[in-house]
Amino acid sequence: MKAAQKLTPISYKTDIFVEWCPGCGDFGILAALRAALADLNLPPNKVAMFTGIGCSGRIAHYMKLYGIHVLHGRPLPFAIGAKLANPELTVLAVSGDGDGLGIGAGHFVNAGRRNVDVTYLLFDNRVYGLTKGQASPTLPLNVKTKALPKPNINDAVNPIALAITSGFTFAARGYAFQINYLKELIVKAIEHRGLSLVQILQPCPTYNDIHTKDWYEAGRIYRLEDEGYDPVVRDPAERDSKKVEAILRSMEDDRIPIGVFYKDETTPPYDERIRARIPSYPERPPAAQEIAGEDGLPVVDLNALLQRYRVR
Ligand code: SF4
Repeated sequence: MKAAQKLTPISYKTDIFVEWCPGCGDFGILAALRAALADLNLPPNKVAMFTGIGCSGRIAHYMKLYGIHVLHGRPLPFAIGAKLANPELTVLAVSGDGDGLGIGAGHFVNAGRRNVDVTYLLFDNRVYGLTKGQASPTLPLNVKTKALPKPNINDAVNPIALAITSGFTFAARGYAFQINYLKELIVKAIEHRGLSLVQILQPCPTYNDIHTKDWYEAGRIYRLEDEGYDPVVRDPAERDSKKVEAILRSMEDDRIPIGVFYKDETTPPYDERIRARIPSYPERPPAAQEIAGEDGLPVVDLNALLQRYRVR
């Protein structure tokens, strides 16, 4: 009998020096993401990750895959475009709470309506860490972190509730320093067919002196499945009641639930909606089409196209 062959797990590490502050929750997220992709055995050339502006955006440089650091608040539209152009790719979008729910909030909502098969990781430390700790859209009303001269005058956005009401078909919350559990959530999010959100609570020890590692780990966090919570929509008729249940859970603030809040297996993802109109999709998706001939010139005759659509 042959000895079992030991497979070497894929490594996504790069040689680039990781420039986050000591103790930052981003380190836990990086470890969980690398482990999740290794568990899924995804070749680096089959994964594309689009990141926005903020400390979280740097993760594109620390992962060996197609990492694209894009404009402020725009990782989702870039990611959606890439997935539609090349459905073979596993596509991730990464934002911080400021990037995704401040300038990127419109993209967040409209991405939900489309339900493209993309995984969105939202690094949530409740401050704008890269620009010295201003209040972000997830910092609660009346909380004063050390960089604020006065308590926060704005109320907070609830990312899970916003995702569910916008049309995301998977919504989960993890904690950066429960690395193994976070890895499992990321795997589930990637495996889900449709737009998935993982909100990741993380300390920012440099600017958020309220929601610290000690604060999170003082018995506040619990796992939804430990209380028998069932997030799965198996029949369209139970969609609304499951949404309400998930949103109510996400609003708890004396205790902090983590885990999968909502998983809808009944709403069609965007590629199925396209296929209803273009039955051959994705036989020849845009990324598989020739754009230039051997001479390097475009194969598309732009003049003919312009003539075709000219208003007469
Ligand atoms: Fe992390 Fe905060 Fe430092 Fe940014 S500022 S790297 S979020 S600890």
